[in-house]
Amino acid sequence: MAYFPTSSSAAGVVGELLMASLAQNTFLWRTSPIGTELETVVVSWLRQALGLPDAFDGLFTDTASIGSLIGLAAAREAAGLDAAKRGLPGRPEVGQPRVYASAEAHSSIDKACMILGLGRDALVHIPTDNEYRMRVDALEAAIAEDLAAGRRPIAIVATIGTTASTAADPIAEIASVARRHDLWLHVDAAYAGVVALLPERRAEFAGWEIADSIIVNPHKWLFTPFDASLFLGRRMAEVRAAFSLVPEYLRTLDRSAPVRDVSEYTPQLGRRFRALKLWVLLRWFGLAGLRRRIAHHVDQAQELASWVDADPDFERLAPVPFSVVCLRWRPAALADRATEPDVAAFLDARNQALLDAVNRTGEVLLSHARLGGRFAIRVAFGNLRTEERHQRRVWELLRREAAKIVS
Ligand SMILES: *Cc1c(COP(=O)(O)O)cnc(C)c1O
Repeated sequence: MAYFPTSSSAAGVVGELLMASLAQNTFLWRTSPIGTELETVVVSWLRQALGLPDAFDGLFTDTASIGSLIGLAAAREAAGLDAAKRGLPGRPEVGQPRVYASAEAHSSIDKACMILGLGRDALVHIPTDNEYRMRVDALEAAIAEDLAAGRRPIAIVATIGTTASTAADPIAEIASVARRHDLWLHVDAAYAGVVALLPERRAEFAGWEIADSIIVNPHKWLFTPFDASLFLGRRMAEVRAAFSLVPEYLRTLDRSAPVRDVSEYTPQLGRRFRALKLWVLLRWFGLAGLRRRIAHHVDQAQELASWVDADPDFERLAPVPFSVVCLRWRPAALADRATEPDVAAFLDARNQALLDAVNRTGEVLLSHARLGGRFAIRVAFGNLRTEERHQRRVWELLRREAAKIVS
């Protein structure tokens, strides 16, 4: 229940076994025709299951961090920087590129800026509202300020399911800002993207279908053993421009059939046959089976949230749109004084001690976050084997250890 759940399943393990047995390396079509072709098929199945239009194509990477790097590298090319060929140093005409993401965005976005030569300073962290979603007015103001100062906006990163509280940025509004300013829109839905498999939840994703690139991690909440991340892009030509480099020894001499060599779209050359693992997974669970389980995890989180809400000595520190609950112990007697500095410090210290005490039981492992300056205990659902008794037990332990801390 810490961080995000370890996402594994028997189907995923069988997939890994088959991958290792077949020992395919999918970097060129000719090194693994089946690996390349099956990747196209499985990416398309997932794309359709997520409700995204067929303008999106994609590929599997090891992690979301690499997927976001690919998205932002393509954004850099799309903005006309021609950095893949010419680099950035010593080119005053490049100006100061800018990327925008919320203050709650994942650190992999900062790292992508580091690796791409834009630097962490190029990433503008936009403040969030009191539910930890990007403030679109602040985004517009930041873009306007940068334009006025002669800087060069190139991309916006919207997050659906932030790491601390799992907030979803207002994607439709952000998409329209991106369109208006002709900026690349990258959607980091590494954790929560799988919720779009549920047709009844699609409305919350409206707007992501016009993104330029999207990341969803099967290894986070789709029962896939580490590693597999899905990159979806609407402008694969720009992705190719960012990464294609074909030395003689990788050249396919007989080009009579039009084929795709996936390594032209990624930083690395050698690639695992991850499509096989996802193929087994989809065939095993079926879409209905995956949907049922994801909906169940959302229900588990909602139920825990309702217990927290009903307890006068605990409080929830963020909405629960997906499968993570952020809570803290806050005795009723202190409710009105919780923001006084002494009381705030006291609550932080006690909740840190509470987290430690609960983890020391050895029965569960929870993690933490800081939300609005407050120490929050995070309880994450999403493991296939988490049953109602575990859900009840974690709540019992939190209350039991909280009672001990007070006395
Ligand atoms: C977990 C997470 C990442 C990083 O995922 P990796 O696959 O471990 O690189 C990025 N963004 C968000 C929103 C995440 O939840």
